Amino acid sequence: MAIIVNPEGFVTAREHIPQAHKLALSDIAAKEPVLRYGSVIGHANRPIPAGSWVREEMLDMPVPPPLDELPLATAVPAPQPPLEGYTFEGYRNPDGSTGTRNVFGIATTVQCVAPTVEYAVRRIKTEILPRFPNVDDVVAITHSYGCGVAIDAPGAAVPIRTLQHIATHANFAGRPLVVSLGCEKLQPARLFSSDLPILESGNVIRLQDERGFGEMVSAILEAAEKRLSQLDRRRRQTCPASDLVVGLQCGGSDAFSGVTCNPAVGYAADLLVRAGATVMFSEVSEVRDAVHLLTPRAQTPGVARDLIREMRWYDEYLAAGRADRSANTTPGNKRGGLANIVEKALGSVAKAGSTALRAVASHGEKVTANGLVFAATPASDFICGTQQLASMNLHVFTTGEGSPYGLALVPVVKVSSRTALAEKWHDLIDIDAGRIATGQATIEEVGWHLFHFILEVAGGRKTWAEHWGLANALSPFNPGPVT
Ligand code: CA
Repeated sequence: MAIIVNPEGFVTAREHIPQAHKLALSDIAAKEPVLRYGSVIGHANRPIPAGSWVREEMLDMPVPPPLDELPLATAVPAPQPPLEGYTFEGYRNPDGSTGTRNVFGIATTVQCVAPTVEYAVRRIKTEILPRFPNVDDVVAITHSYGCGVAIDAPGAAVPIRTLQHIATHANFAGRPLVVSLGCEKLQPARLFSSDLPILESGNVIRLQDERGFGEMVSAILEAAEKRLSQLDRRRRQTCPASDLVVGLQCGGSDAFSGVTCNPAVGYAADLLVRAGATVMFSEVSEVRDAVHLLTPRAQTPGVARDLIREMRWYDEYLAAGRADRSANTTPGNKRGGLANIVEKALGSVAKAGSTALRAVASHGEKVTANGLVFAATPASDFICGTQQLASMNLHVFTTGEGSPYGLALVPVVKVSSRTALAEKWHDLIDIDAGRIATGQATIEEVGWHLFHFILEVAGGRKTWAEHWGLANALSPFNPGPVT
């Protein structure tokens, strides 16, 4: 039996308590609140004696913070001292964005063309790319959207703007080749309505205009050769850290996530903000139960109201599907000691660090503000990652249970909550934040380490996910109807 020291004295564990799970530090009567992170994560539905294992079924979830009663910009953090002189080697683009990789991108308007484009990409990689050594990769933006959808419904705006922003990504130098089928609802002119140079002749290949599969592939290969020769002339230049747009996400979280990796990422987020960069956090259903901690930190009441607008939209979206935020937690989260979504959310928002919330973006909108930004996305790893690609040029992913997640378009830095995971997955995890739990490092030390690592990765150092070529499929969020 373990003995735990608590400010009020010693507590002896009454039973075996698995690693990362909770122990009651004092007697808790039925209906009394149970606190973690100083917040209520539930009310005891039975007496819980000190030293007991506190489990999901012993807690009744509190109602989520009421959205009409939140404090707006009441405790705006003062700006922290700027960090000067931090740089990385990036690719500058004519539109003012900065790439972290030099990639030839092929945008697609509809899923129907995906296998043909993927066939062409295999040929480009073996037959053409080796002649252009300054280009890192060829990536096709394939997806499940584009036709069979109510394209004029309000929800359609989300996947359409997401795909437009991904197609013009900084790592593509803002200029993709476009492959269209011909008869699809998402016509190239609709996908790129405001971007006429992309629609120039020769830059859009319509498969229904070609004579047979051989000609389709030849047309793509010919266009690829031309674009690759342009991209091959790009060179990395020294860029300020403020050119970074870092997306933060957690996946497969456990009860250590909120005390090790997420606070360390939050510390690194503060450093990035101090260096002038943009840091996005997302995952609405993992913010909902901690929103009362964030609206006071909003730079203005308007920013706080924007955050509340996104929470309300998602409440209604879930309610329409007869679900609520409790549908978020997975069997792995619970095995890892997270009793419910409230506890998960309180740990998740630690990624957002301690600076003022500067702006809020809706699903799929491009983030343009510097500083800390909430970019609304679902919490689903592959959908959140896809949505964040609309803006980010580097991704940080924290995990407790472990996921070999990766993205083709930007480097993904993976941070583990526990040393045991970092050791078991020594060839997948980039940074071990479990050292915070074992006392080998502080949150500040891991945060600084991650900050420097991010700058190196932005400048070309490969992450484990890139080393193995791990890239999850793109899954744009589509809240609109399918026909
Ligand atoms: Ca996630």
